Amino acid sequence: MKILIVEDELKVATFLKSGLEDYGLAAAVALDATSAQRLLAATEYTAVVLDVNLPEMSGLELCRVIRQRFPKLPVLMLTAMSSTDDKLLGFDAGADDYLVKPYEFNELLARLRALHRRYAVTTEENVLKVADLELNGQSKLVKRGDKRIDLTMRELALLEYFMHNQGRALSRLEIVDKVWDLSFDTGTNVVDVYVNYLRKKIDKDFTPKLIHTLNGIGYILEEREA
Ligand code: CA
Repeated sequence: MKILIVEDELKVATFLKSGLEDYGLAAAVALDATSAQRLLAATEYTAVVLDVNLPEMSGLELCRVIRQRFPKLPVLMLTAMSSTDDKLLGFDAGADDYLVKPYEFNELLARLRALHRRYAVTTEENVLKVADLELNGQSKLVKRGDKRIDLTMRELALLEYFMHNQGRALSRLEIVDKVWDLSFDTGTNVVDVYVNYLRKKIDKDFTPKLIHTLNGIGYILEEREA
């Protein structure tokens, strides 16, 4: 977890930062909205702890900006105000949670962890995984371990179909029907050709192998015990 603390009081910000670091969380401090936006553009954070009372742009305004640019990034608002109206303003601006000063550090930590769990669930939904092979459903980025893999459109479609059906035997006919959207005569070897292209990119230089040939049937994508 990497937390961005947006707080104009240096003493408070430093206290928060070292508190989070004591619990093994990475933290960065922005003293105003401008530097907060600069940090957010440069680094990926897991959550933002945002003080409502900031100079220039207020925490509420900054929260709206964050919502627009990073719709899923969890924002926890901190404020000295405690009336219901102020809380509602915070939620209106798109805050995910709200904590009134003075607060217990442990409560802040617990809330951050809860936000992170929800965030992790929503972001993981879009990533298909088999062993260390990952396909991001949104960006279409494919990685094996840390290595980025470039695929053609057709290879990507084939991999996506394999990953959605991992652990299931797929016949050539079924693959050609779903990936090429054509009912080919089964005499064609287009599937074998493309499975070979794909293997060269996602399996050849890696272990374990993930695409397996099923004699007389077709193919299966799965992680097998070595
Ligand atoms: Ca402040």
